[in-house]
Parts: sequence; structure tokens; C-alpha cells
Amino acid sequence: MSLAALSKSKINLYLKVLKRRPDRYHEIETLFLPLDTPADRIVLDFETRPGIRVSSTVPGLPENLENLAGRAALAYSDMAKISACWTIRIEKEIPVAAGMGGGSSNAAAVLRLLNDHYRALPEKTLAELALTLGADVPFFLHGRPAVATGVGEVFRYLEGRLFAPPLLIVNPHFPVSAKWAYTHLAPERIGPDDSGKLERLIDALRRNDPAEVAANLHNDLAYALYEKFPLLAILRDFLRENGALNAEITGSGPSLFAVCATPEERDELALSLSGAFRSVTVFTN
Ligand code: ATP
Repeated sequence: MSLAALSKSKINLYLKVLKRRPDRYHEIETLFLPLDTPADRIVLDFETRPGIRVSSTVPGLPENLENLAGRAALAYSDMAKISACWTIRIEKEIPVAAGMGGGSSNAAAVLRLLNDHYRALPEKTLAELALTLGADVPFFLHGRPAVATGVGEVFRYLEGRLFAPPLLIVNPHFPVSAKWAYTHLAPERIGPDDSGKLERLIDALRRNDPAEVAANLHNDLAYALYEKFPLLAILRDFLRENGALNAEITGSGPSLFAVCATPEERDELALSLSGAFRSVTVFTN
């Protein structure tokens, strides 16, 4: 038997680092927006042969239990006391180490697929298990727009109708580890933001106001990334000068997203970007 699920990506429209904890984790406040594009596809095969096997369409991506999807399957099997006979195939579209949560999303998709099938764990236990795999994994269990606090595991879901603006996602073809981004965070950036950006962003999403969304983007991790990788500032400026209302890095980078006023302007921007830069991948939402 075989089951499949879509494994979405995300961007952070807002990312504030509130505190560095003694265990070196950071407390954050972030607005997660799930994206349908790019998304991976996870295929889970139930076998008679015991074990957990994980492979993907990306050469060099960790396999089996070194892959986050494999670690999720193992954690589920241990917690639910179910003997694992699973083969997992990841059809990857989400760029790797790109700030788009690909690994975390894959892990959550595996937990969801397994628990939908076996129904062995209550939601609360599943969420706790997700957090042991990574700070972004609990978000992807539900994959709904949310403000997350704690290390990213305490959620305020944004209920009611939201209007995501026309978005363009740009991935330059080099990886950045989340660890690097957090290690190079300037200490003076750490602390609460009292400018009201987050609430204005949420309000703008409710009112379908792309300009106000664009005016309130924020990412504390971006500063160090622009300094270390000048291409990112070049891309940001290109996006801003060629039709985007604003552009920012998502999560720990290096992918950027641009907020546009209309789908037509976004599509034009995508064309000019692809013409000007060869080694970037562009997604539209
Ligand atoms: P986040 O924003 O959650 O830090 P990211 O998008 O920056 O995520 P990932 O794509 O999740 O980063 O990859 C982080 C690291 O995890 C990579 O070095 C990669 O080799 C490893 N990894 C393990 N399993 C996976 C997976 N299923 N998909 C992507 N990366 C994985």
C-alpha cells in the first residue's frame, strides 16, 4: 500500500528574535505563511520488510535515518510503539537549506501521514514529537498562517479570511544553514519590536492590502545575510526597482520573497528577474 502527501514550504513575513536562551536556542516571534509553490511530494510505501528507508530526487540530500523525514518516521515508530516497515520517497521541489522549511515540512508530512494511518498518537503528543525534530516542524503539522512564539512552537492561528498578496520567491543557488544565520545575528537586534509592524501586517492580510503588507515586512536575520552575501542585497534591490512593493529574505535565508501589487506585475517581475539573473530559481504564488 502507498500513501502520498503534499509537503508545503513557507515564508516568514515577519521574524523578530526576542531572546537568546542559555541552551542557545532563540525565542522568536514570527508570522508564518504556508506556500503551495514550491511544495514537495512525499510518498510512503508500507512494506513487509522491516526498517525505514528514505530517498529523494536530490542527489546528495541525506538519506534514510539521516534525512529529517527518516528521523520523523523513527521517532513516530518509537513513540507509538509501531514496528516500522516503511519506504519514503521525497520528490523535491523546495530548495534545500533555503529558509523555506523544506526539511521541517517533510518531517511533519511524514508524521501526519503515519498518524492519519495508524491514529496512534493524540494531537498534543504529535506536536511534542514534532518539536523534538526541529523548531519549524510543529508549524507544518497544520500548515496554516500563524504567529508563532517560543522557539516557534506556540501558535496563534490567524482565523478568518486572509488575502496573501501576489508573491514571487527567489532562490539563489547556494545554501545557508539556519545555525549560521542565528550565530551571526547582531546582539543589538535582539529584543521586542514595539513598532506595531506585526499587528499591521495581520490587519493588512485581512484587508487585502498588499502595499501595507509590503511596508511592514521584517526579518532580524536579514542584516547579517546581506552583509555576508552581497548578491542578496543586489537581488533585493533589483526586485524593489523592477516592480515589487518590497522584498525581504525569508527565515534564515538565502531565499527572498517579493510582495507585488498585482499578479500581472508579479509575472512581469518574474520575467525580468529570470532575464537578468541566470543562477536563480523563481516561484510565483
Ligand atoms: P529551516 O528554515 O527550517 O531552517 P531550511 O529550508 O533553511 O529550513 P532545509 O531545507 O530544511 O533548510 O535543510 C536544512 C538541512 O537539513 C540541509 O543541510 C539538509 O541536508 C538537511 N536535510 C535533512 N533532511 C532533509 C529533507 N528531507 N529536506 C531538506 N533538507 C534536509
